[in-house]
Amino acid sequence: MSEDTPPIREIRINPVVPSESVLVATARGMRPRKAEEPAPRDTRKHVETCPFCFGNEDKTPPTIAAYPDADDWQIRIVENLYPVLGDDRHQAGLVLGLQQAIDGYGRHEVIIDHRQHGIAVHEMSEAHLANVFRAYRQRMDELYRSDPRLKYILAFKNFGPAAGASIAHTHSQIIAMPVVPENVYNEVHFSRTYFQKHHLCIFCSLIDEALTFEATIYDRQSGKIRRKINVGQYVIERGERFIAIKPFASRFEWEMHILPLQHQATFPLADDDDLQDFARVLKRAMTRLDSVIGGAQYNYFLHSLPHSDEFADCTPSYHWHLEICPRTSIPTGFELGSGLAVNTISPEAAAELLRAVKL
Ligand SMILES: [Zn+2]
Ligand SMILES: [Zn+2]
Ligand SMILES: [Zn+2]
Repeated sequence: MSEDTPPIREIRINPVVPSESVLVATARGMRPRKAEEPAPRDTRKHVETCPFCFGNEDKTPPTIAAYPDADDWQIRIVENLYPVLGDDRHQAGLVLGLQQAIDGYGRHEVIIDHRQHGIAVHEMSEAHLANVFRAYRQRMDELYRSDPRLKYILAFKNFGPAAGASIAHTHSQIIAMPVVPENVYNEVHFSRTYFQKHHLCIFCSLIDEALTFEATIYDRQSGKIRRKINVGQYVIERGERFIAIKPFASRFEWEMHILPLQHQATFPLADDDDLQDFARVLKRAMTRLDSVIGGAQYNYFLHSLPHSDEFADCTPSYHWHLEICPRTSIPTGFELGSGLAVNTISPEAAAELLRAVKL
């Protein structure tokens, strides 16, 4: 971005969830929050006292699954020592007038992504990353089958203290819950509404738009069209089966979404070959991010069609994806109070910087 780029100050409506909007304000004076210094990352390979490091398996709750096997694991899944949701405990339904509570049953598991303590996602091999997502898929399948009351299984990763990671060893988590979380509910609901009106999946439409965007360059003298170029201004990375895009209404400066190019409603439907290409796109996108902002701390999470009868008709309208949200600043009272996210870098400029990285 050059200094003389005219500042943008606009409110962008999230095309999928119109009730969400983002203030894109690139003018210097609009910066309402302070960018955090990236915390020094723990890059050690092995830490004797770390419960997730290889050889310390007795320091965690028992292994649920290990890949390729328990003795020489590369990925290991264990119960969370401090689950936010747990197995059934007999609890009388709490009804307090207008305030209602649902018993917090569910499952909370930790996926130790890699045996190497401080490795970042972009440093893992494509084959390994594909296996991490295969492990999520397998646990989702098993958990959904184990309990029909589970409506949603959220797989996510917090990387770095600014993203809420309490243990430095690389890991992700799976939380299986009896409710559909609001973010997912809204996406599924609004994309269904869009489908009813246009007979199109809005995510597929957004991918098409990103891929076919054309810029027309006119000759200044004659006013005639000089050339048309395919800019693909929101595309960060494109694989054979997946695409990484910069959302038009990005809440976070460096937010990226990865989606299957072919319509697919639920993540567990992705086959091994899909996940191989997914891993390649993820690794390349994360490498770009690392070279642009260095030492990114981020959250990523999978959004997939919930297991709920309420959404049984949403297979053609919902499209699973991974959202990657780098945490480069702290939300202020303005954002918390208004619900309006503030983004100080235009998504187009951010996409351009990410794309420009030579891999
Ligand atoms: Zn460790
Ligand atoms: Zn679609
Ligand atoms: Zn989403």
